[in-house]
Amino acid sequence: MHTKRTGRACRRARHRPDGFILLFGTRAITSNDASVDPVEAVCPRCGQRAQIVGKVYRPWFTVFFIPVFPVGSAKRFSQCTQCGAQFPIEARQLGRQVAAADQQQMQRAIALYNSLRNSPGNSVTLNELMTMYASIGEYDQAVSAARDFPQALDASEQCMVTLGRVYLARNEHGEAIGWFDRAIARNLTLAEAHYFRGVALLTASPPNCDAAAASARIARSNGYPDADQLVREAESRARQQHA
Ligand SMILES: [Zn+2]
Repeated sequence: MHTKRTGRACRRARHRPDGFILLFGTRAITSNDASVDPVEAVCPRCGQRAQIVGKVYRPWFTVFFIPVFPVGSAKRFSQCTQCGAQFPIEARQLGRQVAAADQQQMQRAIALYNSLRNSPGNSVTLNELMTMYASIGEYDQAVSAARDFPQALDASEQCMVTLGRVYLARNEHGEAIGWFDRAIARNLTLAEAHYFRGVALLTASPPNCDAAAASARIARSNGYPDADQLVREAESRARQQHA
């Protein structure tokens, strides 16, 4: 029996005197790791704030493909419940890392806040602060930061676009479009503003596909990288709407 346990690919047939064939093998079974609580974190792959759950992978000895008992040692890993990405790290350890990373982000946020208090008109710092909050899914904090430093916000079309993107992430399309419009009023060729204005118009309810296509075309002519795909999507949905 001992030899049957080795190797995942091992599958043996043993002929019994009565002609009956026994199939032995091993099969890996993945199950939830009940010993760790899910961790809420921004998934490194899909970028969503998602539950990362612990999983256990363990080879089982099988007879006729039915698992009979576990062989070999369990391997623990973690998995994103949004996109299914697996990470070769235990969820518990991931939790510690997330906590450490959050701690670092918070310290960075505090440093940026202090810097802004000293120079409240610094748009570059405000943009960095909002972007940092958005990257960890703290959209409310990003909005508060913009409210706290209106001078920096009003002086920068880039900050306006970032704030618009934050509102878009919060599913507040009207607010978002308002900020994209303000950014465009300051800088007519700001491709990012046109692009996300297009995204907001296309994803609003109800969507405005013609206007979205027009914004996407301006973003494309100003060289925004993903604009071509948005143009095609908006134009195709506009055609469906008119059909
Ligand atoms: Zn993910």
